[in-house]
Formats: sequence, structure tokens, C-alpha cells
Amino acid sequence: MPRRPRVVSDVPALRRAVATLRRDGRIALVPTMGALHDGHISLVRLARRRAKRVVVSIFVNPTQFAPNEDFSSYPRNLSKDLARLAEAGVDLVWAPDVKVMYPDGFATRITPEGPAKVGLEDSFRPHFFGGVATVVAKLLTQCTPDVAVFGEKDYQQLKVIARLATDLDLPVKIVGAPIVREANGLAMSSRNAYLSEAQRGVAATLCRVLKDCAHRIANKAHVARVLDEGSAEIESVGFTLDYLEARHVDSLAKVETLKDGPIRLLVAGRLGTTRLIDNVAV
Ligand code: AMP
Repeated sequence: MPRRPRVVSDVPALRRAVATLRRDGRIALVPTMGALHDGHISLVRLARRRAKRVVVSIFVNPTQFAPNEDFSSYPRNLSKDLARLAEAGVDLVWAPDVKVMYPDGFATRITPEGPAKVGLEDSFRPHFFGGVATVVAKLLTQCTPDVAVFGEKDYQQLKVIARLATDLDLPVKIVGAPIVREANGLAMSSRNAYLSEAQRGVAATLCRVLKDCAHRIANKAHVARVLDEGSAEIESVGFTLDYLEARHVDSLAKVETLKDGPIRLLVAGRLGTTRLIDNVAV
């Protein structure tokens, strides 16, 4: 059995462990909220190709959840996660408690703009990117990685974090990793654990419709019409749709025709009480 990675949970121990790892070469960080699946492991694999040593953080970040969201019920399973990370060859796990990350008196919050204010996730989770930006800035300054890997699954988040690293002159390269999907196309997510077997089948509609819309748009169909029809199809299987949008891959600005592209299609919707997001390139 592969050896479990070392787990540290306070900042001085983290700094010492990172200093030791750095003697071996470049360090990559993969930030996660745990409940690890193959999508997270693909990020670790990419990190291992980009650096000699890999640190994974596991922290369910309360500041990115609204009071009515699933912070307390979010799936947590540290010992299973550590077994998976051992198999994946991770060197160090940074698993702080909330009180370590946000000690009494904590009073600083980053408010990202630009890609964090384009009317996608930010319209439905207004608190979200402030919480993400704050915790990611902390993770990057705590772990001081040369490279940090984030999934395209959270496409807008990836853009917000790349902007944050540039704007704060953080000496780290932000790398995006492709979406890993279930056999039926459903994008892997820790929140898929909330879905029943039947809902998992229905949830795959998101990806199927996205791919179909992308194909039609690439073949010059009218963008707004394609999105209207795609939205109707997603709602017809029982989703409450938050958005289905065509955006510029970099700026996330709205696009009306292929000529405004390159285009990324992004979707978010709720199936029962579970909110799912997904995206594809056109
Ligand atoms: P989370 O634990 O959900 O906060 O995700 C941690 C990181 O894993 C983020 O950078 C996500 O974008 C990424 N991630 C989550 N699901 C997937 C997936 N299905 N494929 C690729 N990356 C993913």
C-alpha cells in the first residue's frame, strides 16, 4: 500500500514542510474541498507533470457558502481522501481547521471584479467569489507554490483566480485542467453525492445539451435560438435553470455570433435541491 502523505494543519508546520519539499524542486498546489473524485485526481496528475512535489489542500471554505447553502452538509471524508492521495503520489496535505484559516479577529476579504462580475455564477451566488478569492489568496501565500492547478469544471472561478494571481503579483503559474466526466457525460463533482441514481441519469442532460448546442453553434446555427432551445430541453427534464449562456472564452463577455468568439458555453441549474454547473468549448 502506498504511504499516506504527511498531513499538516497549522501554518508554522506547513511552512517548515514546504521549505523541506522545496529543496527537491518546484512545488505544485491543488486546492480542493475534499470528498475527492477522479476529477480531483486528474488535477494531481497534471500537477505531478508540472512540478517535482505536490501539495493538496483540503478545506471546506465557509466564506464561499451563503447561509442557506450546503456548508454543514457538504461531504467530508478525510481518511478516504488521504488513501486516494497516497495512491496518486501526493507529498503533503494541507488540512487546516476553520479557526486556523479564519482566527478570531479575521477581518480581511478580497473583492474580485472583472471576471467575477459578468452575470454568471456571481448573479446566483453573490458571496461566492469573494470567499473563493480570499481563501485562494491565503492558500497561495501559505503554500507558496510555483504552480497551482484548478479545474475548468469551475470555469468562471478559474478566470477569477488567474486574474487574482496577476493582479496581486503572486509568483505562481495558474494552470487549468480539463473536466473529468462520468461515463454518461455528467461532470464529476463532490455534490453529485447528493443525487439519487435516477437524478444522476437526468443530470447527464446538462452535458448532452451543452455538447449538442456547441455542435450546432460551431455549424453556424443562430446562437440565441440554440440557447433558447437548449434551455427548454434542460427544463423539460426537471431542472430549474439558472443560466445557459455563450461567452467569450477569455473575457467571459456575452457573444452573439461565432465571429465574437472563441466561445465557451456555460450552464447552471438545480435538480431538486442540488445545484450543478458545467461548461464546454464550442
Ligand atoms: P472542489 O473540491 O469542488 O472545490 O474542487 C477542487 C478543484 O477541482 C477545483 O479546481 C475544481 O474546478 C476541480 N474539479 C472539480 N470537479 C472537477 C472535474 N469533474 N474535472 C476536473 N476538475 C474538477
